[in-house]
Amino acid sequence: MKTKIIVSACLLGANCKYSGGNNFNESVKALENYFELIPVCPECFGGLEIPREPSEIKDGRVFSKSGKDVTESFKTGAEHTLYIAQENNCPAALLKERSPSCGFGKIYDGSFTGTLCDGNGICASLLDENGIAVFGETKCEKLLSLYL
Ligand code: SF4
Repeated sequence: MKTKIIVSACLLGANCKYSGGNNFNESVKALENYFELIPVCPECFGGLEIPREPSEIKDGRVFSKSGKDVTESFKTGAEHTLYIAQENNCPAALLKERSPSCGFGKIYDGSFTGTLCDGNGICASLLDENGIAVFGETKCEKLLSLYL
């Protein structure tokens, strides 16, 4: 039986990005040869629409570009994603880098200027706190080396 891995749905081609597009990534898609991939979109799980305004994290809260506080939607989506990961005994998640939900290690700094800072997205952070290893899409090889 294949190990189950949580994956950002936009990396598998789902049009769930804020813009209505996706972040399809061949290397991520190829992981389905080795793992059972479970697609998630924390922002959609939190009830946010497609398309929607882009959001960034500032001082621990999430704001849309026009200044709306969407933190609770992001938290709801993160909780839902954690539930799915735990129900499926996923040891790891492969998530979209730099996203305010899915980013891990580096995220945008809240200024909407494309500037990165150290930090984690709301969902990536919750998964990490609960013992689920988080990898970005440029770390597919590492995921394979650790979990295959
Ligand atoms: Fe992709 Fe995550 Fe953003 Fe959903 S919340 S569109 S899965 S980066």
